[in-house]
Amino acid sequence: MSLSADLTRALTAAARVDRLLITSDFDGTLAPIVNNPADARPLRDSAKALVALSELPGVSTALISGRALEVLRNLSGMPAAVHLVGSHGAEFDSGFAHPIDRALLDTIAGELQAIAADRPGVTVELKPASVALHVRNAEPADADSALVQAHAASKAWDAELTEGKAVLEFAVIATDKGEAIDILRDEHEASAVIYFGDDVTDEKAFRRLRDGDVGVKVGPGETLAAYRVDEPEDVGAALKYLLDARR
Ligand SMILES: [Mg+2]
Repeated sequence: MSLSADLTRALTAAARVDRLLITSDFDGTLAPIVNNPADARPLRDSAKALVALSELPGVSTALISGRALEVLRNLSGMPAAVHLVGSHGAEFDSGFAHPIDRALLDTIAGELQAIAADRPGVTVELKPASVALHVRNAEPADADSALVQAHAASKAWDAELTEGKAVLEFAVIATDKGEAIDILRDEHEASAVIYFGDDVTDEKAFRRLRDGDVGVKVGPGETLAAYRVDEPEDVGAALKYLLDARR
């Protein structure tokens, strides 16, 4: 567990700006990945540092997650000082910016449930504006065939597909963590933004970062982020570093 010299330099510079916005994904970033999604909890040190940062003058904090907002609120246990955005950046406290096609949502849910029905470990998660098919806990053969079937069925849907780690998610509204970052950046008049993320959906956020911002990819894989750490514990270390630098 360690932070590169490049990253600590960038964090030091970001900590000095007038108004700093610190944002992070939740699963695999603030909280380690677990087999049962309902068991995900933030690492203690990461949560502590993020809450302490949210209480500093000139600092705003937010979690931007693929989870439904209500689920994110419950699992993260964050106080109101930490802003929460659910459904891949589409679900704010004030509601959804775009209307939701309920009929399409029901169609997708029904077909994915049929695909999951005879495959142990394949599960369907219903969210306010999307349906996710999880295959993490299935035998490889069941997982593969479920994903192939879902891909085929989705050709008939006007839905936005997001492929994550062992999950396919179909949203009936536009989902873009980058858009959420832009909205939060304006709202908090931030002079610099820091974003931590581990998955493909986080690339939309990294793409939206500007000069002076700090994007940190957690774990392996191609990324647009300028910095990388190995694991969620490092996110905690980076938040603690920011806290000390800002104080
Ligand atoms: Mg994640």
